[in-house]
Amino acid sequence: MTLHLYDTFTRSLREFVPLNPPHVSLYACGLTVYDYAHIGNLRTYIFEDILRRVLQFNGYTVTHVQNITDVGHLVSDADTGEDKMEKGSQRTGKTAWEIATLYTQVFQEDLRQLNVLEPTIWCKATDHIPEQIAMIACIEGKGFTYRTSDGIYFDTSRLPDYGYLARLNLAGQQAGIRVEQGEKHHPTDFALWKFSPPEAQRQMEWESPWGVGFPGWHIECSAMAAKYLGPLFDIHCGGEDHIPVHHTNEIAQTQACYGTNLANYWLHGYFLQLNESRMSKSSGEFLRLQLLIDRGYDPLAYRYYCLNSVYRAKLNFNWEGMDAATTALNRLRQTVYEWGAPGSVDEEFLDRFQAEINDDLNMPRALALAWELVKSDRSAATKKAMMLMMDRVFGLRLAEWQPAVQTIPDEINQLAQQRQTARAAKNWAEADRLRQQIVAAGFEVQDTAVGPQIQPKR
Ligand code: AMP
Ligand code: ZN
Repeated sequence: MTLHLYDTFTRSLREFVPLNPPHVSLYACGLTVYDYAHIGNLRTYIFEDILRRVLQFNGYTVTHVQNITDVGHLVSDADTGEDKMEKGSQRTGKTAWEIATLYTQVFQEDLRQLNVLEPTIWCKATDHIPEQIAMIACIEGKGFTYRTSDGIYFDTSRLPDYGYLARLNLAGQQAGIRVEQGEKHHPTDFALWKFSPPEAQRQMEWESPWGVGFPGWHIECSAMAAKYLGPLFDIHCGGEDHIPVHHTNEIAQTQACYGTNLANYWLHGYFLQLNESRMSKSSGEFLRLQLLIDRGYDPLAYRYYCLNSVYRAKLNFNWEGMDAATTALNRLRQTVYEWGAPGSVDEEFLDRFQAEINDDLNMPRALALAWELVKSDRSAATKKAMMLMMDRVFGLRLAEWQPAVQTIPDEINQLAQQRQTARAAKNWAEADRLRQQIVAAGFEVQDTAVGPQIQPKR
């Protein structure tokens, strides 16, 4: 069955044809680890996880490379302002290296809680400085660079189709209102290597052929992607904000050095918004997965929430949506549990499911199909087999779920027995006193036809 994916580069839904089937190479831009990931960032990683699972469902083996940006991402995309890591270090009073380790660990734990599959390779920008220097030297050797007082820059005017990914209107940009470009020759030129500021000691800096400094943000992804996947691989993805600058510049660097577009397909996940505006770390207006957990939500309910919208549309976060996702997920879990052992799958249903997920990862329609299955007249065993098959893509851990077993402590059982004895002796005062003691301990007792039932108070 053919898989269609929306490619931002061509702005079209394209049949997916890998370079070396059944192998697929996938690169995903990782987190900038100067702060915790927010649930917007995590929406993008859930989308990329679904992409990977859909590829695997189609029989491909996937090499999934994901970086960690731990240097070089400046506060402004115009290559000015501080490095976000150095800024994070000032904010927390920890070193840039310490916060990189801390936020990477928390991020990876968030991904595990969301059942996002572990990338095949994690790579940190700071572990690949020689590769980045080599690639800058390659770009320099091809004549695409110039030097200013603060760094080595990429001359975007040298590439005839610079900005194609973002459909940038360069002529309009040059002629339009004056853009603050400092010593840059063109507003879209960007730093490949920045010199350490002479007035302040940086925590993260390295020797290079051009002077002591640190790499620009974009070079890390071009260099690491090419190292692990080659200069032309299958799919590159990230969030929508990467289209105009970061991915545009990754393509420019790779074209200059290798003459390739880096990836054959470019996929972008759209923003999670809070109150109709982008959730972002820099604005401080963001929610962490831990906050959801602290408020009693299951991380997988957030995963369900994300699956309920297509990745190519913005999604407005709200708590009512989280409640609805929680209810739906719990119903699904309980239903799937009650179906018992799996039997054989229903091929017709399976084809319909694959058609939905292969239509540019249409998860809302795939979920609707799951609910159709619940209501269908198929046998419980077939339903169970089908749902577990679908869950290889949903990733909701449906097979593992079990209803919580509530154990009643011995002393509560003893109190209940004493109460029964008191009731049998018609000693109502004592029976009431014992009931109050049980309630005070957080349990309730109901007298049913088959005797008293004890359960934790709701
Ligand atoms: P960053 O830490 O800024 O490098 O972002 C990590 C990933 O999250 C990138 O793929 C971004 O494009 C993505 N991202 C950033 N903000 C949002 C958001 N509000 N919603 C969805 N994805 C986002
Ligand atoms: Zn990147």
